[in-house]
Amino acid sequence: MQGPNKQETICVHGASFFEKHTGAVSFPIYQSATFRHPALGESTGYDYSRQQNPTREELEKTIANLEKAKFGFAFATGMAAITAVLSLLKPGEHILATDDLYGGTVRLFNSIYSNYGITCSYVDTTDIELVKKTLRENTKFIYIETPSNPMMKITEIQAISKMAIERNILTVVDNTFLSPIFLNPIELGADIVVHSGTKYLGGHNDTLAGFVVTNKENLAEQVQFYQKAAGAGLAPFDSWLILRGIKTLAIRMQRQEENALYLAEKLKAHPKVKKIFYPGLPTHPGKAILEKEAKGYGAMISFEVDSKETAENILRKVKLILFAESLGGVESLITYPMVQTHADVPLSQREALGINERLLRLSVGIENKEDLLADLFQALE
Ligand SMILES: *Cc1c(COP(=O)(O)O)cnc(C)c1O
Repeated sequence: MQGPNKQETICVHGASFFEKHTGAVSFPIYQSATFRHPALGESTGYDYSRQQNPTREELEKTIANLEKAKFGFAFATGMAAITAVLSLLKPGEHILATDDLYGGTVRLFNSIYSNYGITCSYVDTTDIELVKKTLRENTKFIYIETPSNPMMKITEIQAISKMAIERNILTVVDNTFLSPIFLNPIELGADIVVHSGTKYLGGHNDTLAGFVVTNKENLAEQVQFYQKAAGAGLAPFDSWLILRGIKTLAIRMQRQEENALYLAEKLKAHPKVKKIFYPGLPTHPGKAILEKEAKGYGAMISFEVDSKETAENILRKVKLILFAESLGGVESLITYPMVQTHADVPLSQREALGINERLLRLSVGIENKEDLLADLFQALE
C-alpha cells in the first residue's frame, strides 16, 4: 500500500483514506445489489454485490493492510469465513487443530465436514513434538488458535509454520483473540489468517462478520471464487459498521489490555480464585512466546473458582459485566464456556482441557477498571 502504513493510521483511514469520487471522509455504503454496465463487455469493476461491492472491497483491503498481507475477504460471520477456508480441502484430507478451539469451529469440523470425509485431530499445539507425531500423510492444515479458547495457551506460530512448510502443509491461524494490532501471523509464516470480525474488529457487539486473509495468490483466487460461488460475502452496511469499528481498534486494544492486566493481577490474589489463565501474567508459560511474536497479550482472561456455586453466583450477581456470549467489544462480558461457547465440544475432551463447571471466561472491555474490579469482587462475595 502507499502512504503511511502504521497500524493506528490504517485503522483510522482504511485502505483509501477517503472516497475518491466525492472526498467523503466516511467511506460510503454502496447499498446496491447490481451495477450498470457502460456497454457490452465493459464494467466499472463492479457487476453484482455477491461478487464484489465497493464498501466490502474497502474493508477487505483494510483488513489485508492491517494483517500485512495482499488479499482479504469479508464474510457474513466468522464461521462463514472458516467455511470458506475449509472449501480448500478435499474428501480424505486431514486437519490437525489446537485442542481447545472455539466450540463453533469444533462443531463445524466434527458435525458438518466429517460428513464430507474431512477428519480432524485435536492436539496441544504448544507442543511441537506432539504436533509432529500427530501429523498424517493426508494432513493439509495445521489450524491454530492462539491464545487458545478458553485456556489461553500460546502456540509458537513461527515454529509451527516452519515445520509445516517443510511438509507442504498450510498453517491457518484464527487471530480473533489478539487482532492484527497485537499479532500478524502471516509475517510469522502462516499461510492463512481467519477472524471473527464480530469480536475486536467490529468492537461494539453489534455486527457479525468474518475474514480470510492470505498472501498467496493461488489461495486468494480459490477463496474469492468460493465467496462469489457460495454467496456468504459481508453486506455493504455491515461492511461499513466494521470499517467504523476498526477506526478505534488500536486504542481499544490498548485500553482493554490495560484493564485485563489490572483485573488478572487482582483476581489472582482473590482467595476464591484457584487458577487464572492470562498470558500477560509473569507466571503464564506463554508470555515469553508472545513477547517474541506479538505486540500484546490481549484482553481475554479465564479463571477457575473454588466451586460450581461460586461460578453460578458470579453469573447471577454481576451487574456491570454482562453475562453473555461473545467477546472483544467495548462492553465487558462474562461467559460460562462449559455450557455456552464450548457446549459442542465432547465431554471427555472438555474435561481433559480443564473446561469444567468452575471455569469462567471474561472479555474485558473499556470501562473504568476500578468499576470492573468492584463488580467482580462483589459478585465473588
Ligand atoms: C466467535 C468466534 C468465531 C466465530 O465467529 P462468528 O462471527 O461468531 O461466526 C471463530 N473463532 C473464534 C476464536 C471466535 O471467538
